[in-house]
Amino acid sequence: MQGYPKDVRVSPTELAMNCLTSSVEIPRYFTSVSDAAVRQAVSDGDYSGIPDIPGDAVDHLVECVDCSNDLLWFIGIRQEIDVTTYPCLHLAFACSSRGNGVIERQHGMFAIRVDVKTGRSIVIGFCPWCGLRLNTAAEIPPRGMAAG
Ligand SMILES: [Zn+2]
Ligand SMILES: [Zn+2]
Repeated sequence: MQGYPKDVRVSPTELAMNCLTSSVEIPRYFTSVSDAAVRQAVSDGDYSGIPDIPGDAVDHLVECVDCSNDLLWFIGIRQEIDVTTYPCLHLAFACSSRGNGVIERQHGMFAIRVDVKTGRSIVIGFCPWCGLRLNTAAEIPPRGMAAG
């Protein structure tokens, strides 16, 4: 699975919808679409069979290899985790078993695992793929509440 960083310097006027917007919105439009239909749409670059997807989102998916690849990430993990509970698709993927849990969520923050043996990790301030700004202050839940 490819996982190269996106170029978020692409001007929003160049592409109607940029990668950042797209990565947040992709799951919304494909929630009820089957894996097979998603794969077909990505390989053909034809999203006409996807209900209720806005034209600018389609334009972006057709033009952007990274974001159409994100769709394949999405269908690869959606049975395992609810991607809508993550800031973006990339972090959901990186936290999943498909992403080998290379990033972990702790107290509302995201951290890259730098040592598998010790579990040592470093909190990140941005998504490495789309550049989305992330919370870096720990949200310690009150006693008695489950950590998230
Ligand atoms: Zn994109
Ligand atoms: Zn991201």
